[in-house]
Amino acid sequence: MTKQMSINAPDLFFNNQTGELSGKKVGEKIARIGDLTNVFADEDARQNLDPELVAYHFQYFFPVPENTEGGLFFGNTTIYPGKVGQEYFMTKGHFHAKGDRGEYYWCIKGKGILIFMDRERKTWAEEMNPGTLHYMPANVAHRSVNVGNEPMTFGACWPSDAGYDYGTILESGFNSRLLEIDGKPQLVNDKDCQHL
Ligand code: MN
Repeated sequence: MTKQMSINAPDLFFNNQTGELSGKKVGEKIARIGDLTNVFADEDARQNLDPELVAYHFQYFFPVPENTEGGLFFGNTTIYPGKVGQEYFMTKGHFHAKGDRGEYYWCIKGKGILIFMDRERKTWAEEMNPGTLHYMPANVAHRSVNVGNEPMTFGACWPSDAGYDYGTILESGFNSRLLEIDGKPQLVNDKDCQHL
């Protein structure tokens, strides 16, 4: 008689329409405006907003412990619509702690812009719309921005030993910021934002 091998019901789910992850091992983090000190150019404007206001939330599935070589992490981020002064709600942005680790993002819903910056501070950006796929090369910092009127959600997959280096960005920022100027998003040199 043939040996019957078990076929298990999955315990992890990804909703293609919303990007939502579910399953008992899925974790979640929330970034509120009050948590984002010195992230936006206009710190006074940030302090005038409700600190409880959610700027973005992050869901993740870490099947192996952080820093494990050879594993993959999976997650999604939803950035809510809004602005701090003229600057759109966005993620803190980071290099990877292990700088040579890459990552994929893909946009699921909403309208965004992804800002990249290499170690020489050269900065560029790509539009994010449902279905766009974005590869983050090694040693390139990444920050995503919601430039629409609805929540913007994207998925991500990255090596489990990549880690996060938020400190470099908190100290010296990105070279450019996305501001709403004349009703549309424009990438502006960070130095020029100090005078707005
Ligand atoms: Mn990353």
